[in-house]
Amino acid sequence: MRPLRLRGHHLLCVHGFRGMGYSPSFVEKMKEIVRDIRDEEKEMLIQVVVALDEACFSCPHHGESTCQADPTSNDHVVSMDKKVLTHLGLEENAVYLKSELLRLTAKKVRPDDLDDLCANCSWLSYGVCKEGIANLRQKKSELSEIASSPFQKVWYDKKI
Ligand code: SF4
Repeated sequence: MRPLRLRGHHLLCVHGFRGMGYSPSFVEKMKEIVRDIRDEEKEMLIQVVVALDEACFSCPHHGESTCQADPTSNDHVVSMDKKVLTHLGLEENAVYLKSELLRLTAKKVRPDDLDDLCANCSWLSYGVCKEGIANLRQKKSELSEIASSPFQKVWYDKKI
């Protein structure tokens, strides 16, 4: 199973995505990714990166290896990626099970954490991202997935 490459901050974006985006092709790609991630029946591998990912390559603003939306955009998205990885305790470039990443996100990210993790993102003020995280936490707590203790170590295999 080839892992989906997802940059750190997109681990949060997928929960609030409501069809808005930078271009029709980007929106289509995000819809595809979000559909897979929200599909409870579907397990998949996700490689967590601090770099352009599969969504970025469908965005009109991507360069060869960096975001070129404006002179500061790459530094901004990279800093969000790193903050999210640190917050979740994930290792850059490692591969994880989607189900474990969702559990970890539900357990460790509170809606108001986005004020720091996503500072200066233009989508933050819409409120849909905080709502998406709140919904994820609600769903996982109803399934008693957050409460399961101790939290299982996230599986990964760097060789993939
Ligand atoms: S505020 Fe921006 S970076 Fe944060 S989850 Fe929403 S779209 Fe993603």
